[in-house]
Amino acid sequence: MKIVEIFDSIDGEGIRTGQPATFIRLAGCNLRCSYCDTAYALFGEDEPCVYEEMTVDEVVKKVNPNYRRVTLTGGEPLISPEAAELVTRLIENGVEVNIETNGAVDIVDFLKRVPSSEKLFFTIDYKLPSSGACDKMIWRNFESLRPRDVIKFVVGSDEDVREMISVTERITPLYEKMQKMPHIFVGAVYGKFDAQKLVNIILTEPLLKDARFQVQLHKIVWDPNERGV
Ligand code: SF4
Repeated sequence: MKIVEIFDSIDGEGIRTGQPATFIRLAGCNLRCSYCDTAYALFGEDEPCVYEEMTVDEVVKKVNPNYRRVTLTGGEPLISPEAAELVTRLIENGVEVNIETNGAVDIVDFLKRVPSSEKLFFTIDYKLPSSGACDKMIWRNFESLRPRDVIKFVVGSDEDVREMISVTERITPLYEKMQKMPHIFVGAVYGKFDAQKLVNIILTEPLLKDARFQVQLHKIVWDPNERGV
């Protein structure tokens, strides 16, 4: 596997915010978002992608046994050919796995290749227009989530706000009918969209009544450009 970095930290976003986890960052991504803050994990950028080839065994051994929580991230972790094998091994070892994925890889197909487990959940981005990758979203991903999964919106413009509300409007009736709404987390593109404005939108938009506002905790605790935290 092409591993950019493995480190222990606290989860900076989503339902495990603040909890210790082992981060496994895989190299490569199928998107190029305008606000990407992990260009060092992508191929073909100005900054060369530095990675280490490791076997699944070697990666599994790096997981901190005290936490037994992994955040699998990238780049886009699900484009790695060994991702399903790694996730399977982690689940078999009793590790809770949070897969941070970008909405442009078919997670329905991926779920067929790993054991069914309560210990696995996705934090899936819905890329909004300002990302430049909105047209790459695979819609069935967003219709197939479980209550433990997270849809994440990162808002960088007023157009993004409109698209986020429109997407929420499409998926809400579907999940409410099945009584299995996934979590919705909303954050601002760092330094690009006013956080107070976004909070006010959440407070006044009925469709976002159950959404949770979030900041990227690791960008507050550490220098926003620091790696491996
Ligand atoms: S999906 Fe994530 S890693 Fe890939 S380009 Fe977009 S922000 Fe960067």
